[in-house]
Amino acid sequence: MADNSGVRTFFEKQGPSNPLVRRFIAGTSLRDGLLVVKEYSDHNISCSLDILGENVLLPEEAEKSTLGYLEAIRQISIFSPRTYLSVKLTALGMDISDQLARQNLRRLTDEARLRGGIFVRIDMEGSAYTARTHQIVAEEHRAYANVGGVVQSCLRRSDRDLESLIAENVSVRLVKGAYEESPDIAYPKKADIDVAFRRQMYQLLEKGFHPALATHDEAIINIAKKFVKQHNIDPENFEFEMLHGIRNDLQTALVKEGFAVRVYVPYGVAWYPYFSRRLAERPANVGSLLKNLFK
Ligand SMILES: Cc1cc2nc3c(=O)[nH]c(=O)nc-3n(C[C@H](O)[C@H](O)[C@H](O)COP(=O)(O)OP(=O)(O)OC[C@H]3O[C@@H](n4cnc5c(N)ncnc54)[C@H](O)[C@@H]3O)c2cc1C
Repeated sequence: MADNSGVRTFFEKQGPSNPLVRRFIAGTSLRDGLLVVKEYSDHNISCSLDILGENVLLPEEAEKSTLGYLEAIRQISIFSPRTYLSVKLTALGMDISDQLARQNLRRLTDEARLRGGIFVRIDMEGSAYTARTHQIVAEEHRAYANVGGVVQSCLRRSDRDLESLIAENVSVRLVKGAYEESPDIAYPKKADIDVAFRRQMYQLLEKGFHPALATHDEAIINIAKKFVKQHNIDPENFEFEMLHGIRNDLQTALVKEGFAVRVYVPYGVAWYPYFSRRLAERPANVGSLLKNLFK
């Protein structure tokens, strides 16, 4: 339903003034994003700022995204240096060429270095990009240490990818994976993804460099808390990361317990693909969507 053109037109007409859209998206401008970051920071929660927009097909669109990210880095360095930037390589032109995405990423990391070492996390997209993204992350990390990657537990290849990233001391955000993938390359059953996530989470907590455990799965979060206690792992060595609009109660509770929490705050005009992924991954959201359409 989230991909239905009628539903899309309905939500695109209303934009972030619609409460369901507003739940997941900070707004359309950098200023909207920074205002939400400020609210989180008042509650001792850090943020990763993401400009929505992916799969650009023209060099001028890639240039526009790059300029947007550069401005975000400048503003972060002034208003909120603890904030990370989250970047999608397809927004930097990866569908045009890996070379263009690399060049644009280098412009971002040069600026991030100049502005005091802002951390840049490269999001992971669908499986057509997995190997290329890991390769670019590893290369860029050798040039600028404050670059991190993402591993999706749903992919059968991920144990190997995780091992290489840990060996290179790259900070990893562990996620279950938001893209629909074929059973040849990904676990079709949620239970198997959860098993992989737990296995990879243990690896990261024991050997990873400042990992981010990015999930709202309370059962897994409780297992992480138990593991950390049993293995005497300093809560400062890792963080929990969640999406804006999901489980604010859990975010606050974790902060109160002394854990580091970061929230991924997306903003921008091209918000629909991100919004539709959020709707699709949770059947209960379809109830809210229907209420929105028919009220
Ligand atoms: C900080 C962060 C960054 C991410 N970056 C990437 C990335 O780079 N690449 C990528 O493929 N994926 C990314 N994801 C998305 C991720 O892969 C999952 O699709 C998403 O986090 C849902 O999985 P879950 O771990 O919360 O577990 P699930 O088992 O799916 O959900 C556990 C519980 O979380 C809550 N929940 C989860 N999703 C929703 C929702 N949409 N609406 C309402 N409640 C919900 C529900 O209470 C649910 O019971 C990211 C997720 C986070 C938190």
